[in-house]
Amino acid sequence: MSRATSAVINLHALRHNLRRIRTLAPKARIMAVVKANAYGHGIAQVAQTLAAADAFAVACLEEALEIRQAGLAHPIVLLEGVFRAAELEEAARSGCELVVHDDSQLALLEHSKLQHNLGVWLKIDSGMHRLGFPPSKTQAVWQRLNQARAVRKPVRLMTHLASADETSNPRTQLQLETFAACTRNLTAERSIANSAGIIAWPDSHGDWVRPGILLYGVSPFAGRCGAQEGLIPAMTMGTTLISVQQVSKGEAVGYGGAWVAPEDMRIGIAAIGYGDGYPRHAPNGTPVLVSGERAWLVGRVSMDMIAVDLRGLPHAKTGDPVMAWGAELPVEEIARAAGTIPYELLCGVTQRVKFSLVDESAPSVKAQGGVSA
Ligand SMILES: *Cc1c(COP(=O)(O)O)cnc(C)c1O
Repeated sequence: MSRATSAVINLHALRHNLRRIRTLAPKARIMAVVKANAYGHGIAQVAQTLAAADAFAVACLEEALEIRQAGLAHPIVLLEGVFRAAELEEAARSGCELVVHDDSQLALLEHSKLQHNLGVWLKIDSGMHRLGFPPSKTQAVWQRLNQARAVRKPVRLMTHLASADETSNPRTQLQLETFAACTRNLTAERSIANSAGIIAWPDSHGDWVRPGILLYGVSPFAGRCGAQEGLIPAMTMGTTLISVQQVSKGEAVGYGGAWVAPEDMRIGIAAIGYGDGYPRHAPNGTPVLVSGERAWLVGRVSMDMIAVDLRGLPHAKTGDPVMAWGAELPVEEIARAAGTIPYELLCGVTQRVKFSLVDESAPSVKAQGGVSA
């Protein structure tokens, strides 16, 4: 029997989530963020499915070229820009737009003799202190970029929010004020909001929003899940039970004997592990669905398998479907149990997992309610 571990990507969910973002930010254009293989969902298929987006955003040129190979002609923004002249040429040839966030990139553009008509986003560091020019340099850099021959005018403006997912953190308001102040007299399109900004900070919408995680049906806020934001999870990670074991009270299960059966009972062995991207640090009690019913992880996660407490499921048997996360089991809940964020779980699905596509509205917003602690 071949391995049943699979990630099913629901194309309907992706389109639904894009429409939901339009209603959340009705005045803005949407730059769909599909970096890191579309958060693990498959960049080519996701970009094709999200063709109604106004642009795409990726982390690097290689990702942009995958979108071009998928036959899409949208603007593609390279969120970290380019670092060498050869890359600049290729980005220009393939119709990419560049973020310019430091002096070396500014110099690269100024020294380019070609008439590229390159779209450029000047990135300001409004307080995250990761990428961007300091606010005090905004005017000077904007002017220099607008004079560079290779650059299309007017150069646009971008910043990124560090704490938009913390809805009562005053840092976001400060970042918005800093960005507004240093760009005040510049006539240019602006882009600020990531997913959390789109929902929690309407003042951050600007001309272009940059949703990532929302597209995939996942909430950016701790303690919430996609359904609560009106989204449908796009990925379902699943497998099957490959064995059911009877264990006696006191017997230890799995590596290190980290879990000991409190009574005579059955456990199921599901064919999914950290070699598939299931988080190794998921503790005892992390939920899984067996034939749609809740059961709980016991013992350590192995590379290829997990063990599941079947006490509540007397009819469970080898071959039954197991869901690790998906429409009925929010990935937010698994991430929280494992001490990580859903972004990491989605990006971490490994190559051996079989990907397939469905296009259905059926598994809609069933998973209501919050993420339990
Ligand atoms: C990744 C990224 C985004 C999208 O973030 P989400 O939280 O997934 O919406 C937006 N802007 C920039 C600059 C990013 O790097």
